[in-house]
Amino acid sequence: MTSKVLDTFLNENITDLKKRGLYNEIDSVQGANGAMITIDGKKSINLSSNNYLGLTTDDRLKKVAKDAIDSYGVGAGAVRTINGTLDIHIDLEKKLAAFKGTEAAISYQSGFNCNMAAISAVMDKNDAILSDELNHASIIDGCRLSKAKIIRVNHSDMDDLRQKAKEAVESGQYNKVMVITDGVFSMDGDVAKLPEIVDIAEEFDLITYVDDAHGSGVLGKGAGTVKHFGLQDKVDMQMGTLSKAIGVIGGYVAGKENLIDWLKVRSRPFLFSTAVSPADAISSTKAIELLMESTDLNEKLWKNSNYLKEGLKELGFDIGNSETPITPVIIGDEKETQKFSKRLYEEGVYAKAIVFPTVPRGTGRVRNMPTAEHTKGMLDEAIASYEKIGKEMGFI
Ligand code: PMP
Repeated sequence: MTSKVLDTFLNENITDLKKRGLYNEIDSVQGANGAMITIDGKKSINLSSNNYLGLTTDDRLKKVAKDAIDSYGVGAGAVRTINGTLDIHIDLEKKLAAFKGTEAAISYQSGFNCNMAAISAVMDKNDAILSDELNHASIIDGCRLSKAKIIRVNHSDMDDLRQKAKEAVESGQYNKVMVITDGVFSMDGDVAKLPEIVDIAEEFDLITYVDDAHGSGVLGKGAGTVKHFGLQDKVDMQMGTLSKAIGVIGGYVAGKENLIDWLKVRSRPFLFSTAVSPADAISSTKAIELLMESTDLNEKLWKNSNYLKEGLKELGFDIGNSETPITPVIIGDEKETQKFSKRLYEEGVYAKAIVFPTVPRGTGRVRNMPTAEHTKGMLDEAIASYEKIGKEMGFI
């Protein structure tokens, strides 16, 4: 017999979430997650993927992935520290270091486990971490796992950061203090104030950690937020994911040789979880090569983003303080946000509602992710649907 306690716990909580409109039904996509998307046989304009540059379906990546399967098979076969380190993992890490302008890099199976791995390998219970209140869930979990004291910093508030850094360092209670931030905040699209953050870090000798999941491939002509500000020599740990603009899967940290050496012997997902597949490793490397060779896709991404943003702003929607392609249309109320997104879908536009607990209560938004792959026609159609539903629901 299975546990009654577990059944009661699950049933009560799921019912409660459903009642409050917080139970997220998961859609299943048939075929590629590109500029268009098919769900339950219905084709829509896709404004919800992180496939910023359209690389998930790029023929050049598909070709190297297929070749890798022929040469290496479908799995890495072991954890990296036993015999799962294939030559193509090393190639990927060399390419990542060149891409980020650092001495070395280490790759992981996902961005999420990379944050869990890297933060907890460097920080411990005798340390403190200054963490922006809007940092991604994987940063929060990585900080918790480290057992360091977590000091929440008001979002992008440099006075608050400076004050809390001063208090933490002058208290003499901690061996090391880290400041950790998203490069681009994933729900609002605003960019971290990295020049001020590194100045404060220099003043108090803080370790600097930037999660650039949404900045890589996007800012700095594709090289990311740190390069965008020219701060490669001032950020200790540049973390990123291979699952968004790069189009594949995986995570990484780029930094100095000694940091990467340490992560290779101390970060647990590297030591105890099997490496990414050969096809993943080689297609990620190819994507980075493409980004380093040409900025064409990056320019297209920005052109499309600016076009969508202008269109929505002109209609009178509140698109918050986004400085990047991430384009939230702030609705506020959770149920209204869900309804708006549902109506968009009925009109053929797939843009997800993002509500509490992913964002604070009362700040529900429909989040739009334009990509390099969208055509002007698709964006025009999306803007027309926003106009129709915005008027229908009384938002514009
Ligand atoms: N950091 C940030 C800021 C993210 O948005 C995400 C993805 N949602 C991650 C880390 C995790 O990356 P991955 O999807 O590769 O696990």
